[in-house]
Amino acid sequence: MSRKPVVLIAFGGNALIQKGQKGTAEEQLENLRLPMRVVANLSRDYRVVISHGNGPQAGNLLLQQESCREVPAMPLDVVGAMTQGQIGYMIESSLDAALTEAGEDRLFITVLTFTEVDKNDPLFKNPTKPVGPFYTEEEAAQRPYTMVKTDKGHRRVVASPKPVAIAQHREIKQLVEEDYIVICCCGGGIPVVREGRSFRGVEAVIDKDLASSTLAQEIKADLFVIATDVKGAAIHWGKPEQRLLGRVSLEEMKGYVREGHFPAGSMGPKVEALLGFVEGTGNRAVICHLDDIEKAVAGEAGTEISK
Ligand code: ADP
Ligand code: MG
Repeated sequence: MSRKPVVLIAFGGNALIQKGQKGTAEEQLENLRLPMRVVANLSRDYRVVISHGNGPQAGNLLLQQESCREVPAMPLDVVGAMTQGQIGYMIESSLDAALTEAGEDRLFITVLTFTEVDKNDPLFKNPTKPVGPFYTEEEAAQRPYTMVKTDKGHRRVVASPKPVAIAQHREIKQLVEEDYIVICCCGGGIPVVREGRSFRGVEAVIDKDLASSTLAQEIKADLFVIATDVKGAAIHWGKPEQRLLGRVSLEEMKGYVREGHFPAGSMGPKVEALLGFVEGTGNRAVICHLDDIEKAVAGEAGTEISK
């Protein structure tokens, strides 16, 4: 068993697709080069777990399904599973190259991940998360989905229930103990509910930062990093008095949450994810820019919360 500390890094959408890009396979592989170099370097001193989002990839698959009537459309849980495969494949390819370049002989593996949610979660009654393509009024009327009307057309909305547990956390923990770099929890995991001793997939999406926090607590990570496209969490975001937060205590951060500095759907779940981890483990958690991961691990960048 390895004694190196365990870091879980949750990668944001920009690790795969940058602003203004279409998201071709070439673009995604190119974007992964630098982050995977960082993972390869970190793997000398840390055991690393990688999680990541899947919003644009899942959205594109849903759009592809819409444009073909000859084959049956797959439900959201299956689409989520498809993205775990495609993104896992791209991350593994990049990571393999980066490890070779760094002269590191490390094993790695992608784990198909189910995230258990509570079928009585009140959030199921209030679907708010838009997914998939935009529809015209007539198209929307023909679809069996809950829809919302937006400026660009009608869009399907699904629930985003809270993650309760990561079904594969024991497998992941064991792999991490043996110093595998594990890629998992893609897109927050495939949402499932427990039915007796088995699981059933449900039509929902799970926030990747909250699911990553759940896993980081289950495997008792020493450090939890959320890498995104801003330097950290700021108070008074978008206002002249905006201020980036550096090191903050748990209590101070909870105060900022109460004051409403972190909106739902972007910074809100990230801060909630960090707070849950720090409360649950007593360990450090940080949110930083994708380019600052090594500095953030060293305690020199990002918004860091500790007890
Ligand atoms: P990711 O794809 O990495 O998960 P998101 O787009 O969901 O990232 O969230 C990051 C975004 O949150 C930033 O690009 C920024 O525009 C937005 N944001 C909202 N409120 C804040 C805040 N208080 N501090 C920093 N960023 C914020
Ligand atoms: Mg984003």
